[in-house]
Amino acid sequence: MFCGYIKDKDLGRVAIFTRSGMRSVRAKWNKFRQLEITFPVGVKPDDISRVLSENRNRFLAMREELESRPPRFHEGQVINCLENTRVEIRRNQGYSHYFTTGLDDNDIDCFFVEVPRNCDFANPAHEATVISCLKHLTQRAALIHVIPFAMDVAADKGCSVSDFEIGRGLKKLGHCTPKGIISLSANLFFFPDHLARYVICHELAHLHFMNHSADFHAECNRLCDGKEAQLEQELRDFMQSDQYPL
Ligand SMILES: [Zn+2]
Repeated sequence: MFCGYIKDKDLGRVAIFTRSGMRSVRAKWNKFRQLEITFPVGVKPDDISRVLSENRNRFLAMREELESRPPRFHEGQVINCLENTRVEIRRNQGYSHYFTTGLDDNDIDCFFVEVPRNCDFANPAHEATVISCLKHLTQRAALIHVIPFAMDVAADKGCSVSDFEIGRGLKKLGHCTPKGIISLSANLFFFPDHLARYVICHELAHLHFMNHSADFHAECNRLCDGKEAQLEQELRDFMQSDQYPL
């Protein structure tokens, strides 16, 4: 659960979270170069101050390490997306100050994010703007690519789905209602085909079992040709990797 921010003179705005079942404290610098610290539920303000002061140097070293990495995006970058579609990062050579998104006039499988001439990919604010452009673009691309892809998977597996829709939430990859409507995250657009298919199969299994019981997993595993556990692990790895742009 997000609890709020603490302003720190060295570390900047630190986001504080709590999570039940946690015993130790976890800290990470997120994609926006902001420190996130997760505490066990019931943490006291004094404990938070103590953790910040005792670990200040470690946190600063973590940030330094992060800043020494190459930027996440670069000019000419090609992000491979669902079913051989892609997003290219381009630089506007004119005088526009805007970050824009679009679909290539000559190639219907190519979307683009165009950054201004003076964009500095190492600048966290510019990086965050590229990410928000990608999110914006994904909402559009998902309607054209994710939904037809999901319909094909359902047909292939012989499942009848009342409807597919693109969900608004960014955290949840998929959701199935008791009426058999499956809502999918637009972010599946950035997934390799087999992992998007796995997420869809998980939701198709919910058409029969609205829980995560052993029966549910047996059905999900059947739909995934016996690879549920392997795909779940691959999915987690992918979402933590540099290949996942969001
Ligand atoms: Zn589920």
